[in-house]
Amino acid sequence: MNTTSGSCPNFSMRLETASMLFHKAVDAVQQGQIPKRNLIWLELTGCAGNIISLLNGEDPDFKGLISQMVHYLYDNSLMAAEGEFAMDQLFDALDSDYILAVEGAVSTKDEGLYTIIGRWKGRPITAYEVIQTFGERAAHVIAVGTCASDGGISAARPNPAQCVGIQNLLNRKVIKLPGCPCHPDWFMGTLAYTLLFGEPELDARQRPLMFYSTLIHDLCPRRPCFDRGVFATQLGEDTCMFKLGCRGPVTRVDCPIRKWNDRVNWPIGDDGPCIGCAMFGFPDKMEPFVRFDTT
Ligand code: SF4
Repeated sequence: MNTTSGSCPNFSMRLETASMLFHKAVDAVQQGQIPKRNLIWLELTGCAGNIISLLNGEDPDFKGLISQMVHYLYDNSLMAAEGEFAMDQLFDALDSDYILAVEGAVSTKDEGLYTIIGRWKGRPITAYEVIQTFGERAAHVIAVGTCASDGGISAARPNPAQCVGIQNLLNRKVIKLPGCPCHPDWFMGTLAYTLLFGEPELDARQRPLMFYSTLIHDLCPRRPCFDRGVFATQLGEDTCMFKLGCRGPVTRVDCPIRKWNDRVNWPIGDDGPCIGCAMFGFPDKMEPFVRFDTT
């Protein structure tokens, strides 16, 4: 059962948002209307799922990002340099004009010693130190994924490393793109918009309205089942999963029209309830992910 995408002009337009912004930004760079700015991508406490998700982008894709839209200066998972040489590249960029993208939460226990991103000049560089050093000087800071936005799984009970989202350590506004992981379009579209026009319009939780303005529940192809009271009683049924604990009614993001893996599918399309991974408080406040007693 899938009826959302394709025919509705509103949905089609929204699907094109990231691509349109990307190509507009690339054109503006090529014509010298805007500078090709530096981008630093930091991986802090997390699973590297957001950079893997970004590599999955199709239009726009990662190759276009690094070859046409920005100077991609640092990313510990993808860059050729390693060790002290890589850290030199990072710290050399500190006095430049750069946009900072961050995935992963910040471990704060024992002044951050539980997440060390590298060694530089003979000392460990913690996520705790690097986010404050680079976060305050960046032109814009984008939290990519739920851990950077709000702590996410890295901050789940009992949170032994005392992880927090990056906003907790910065005295400046952070653009937040929660989602576990962040969809490549949410990042590419937000970055392109920021390069072209500056900070996009954000909601009260600092999320761009162009991607986070609607509830999953309001776009869900199973909404007619909800409205008629036709509920799934076990996983695998193609009706509304509200009684199985679906968090679509409280999760604000556009997964139903955007989908994942080049728009192939999404959790509810595969008969799994939404677990609210883009919601603040995920995962602790979204559990249990599935309710088996549907009476
Ligand atoms: S409760 Fe979940 S499955 Fe049911 S309509 Fe809402 S989002 Fe869709």
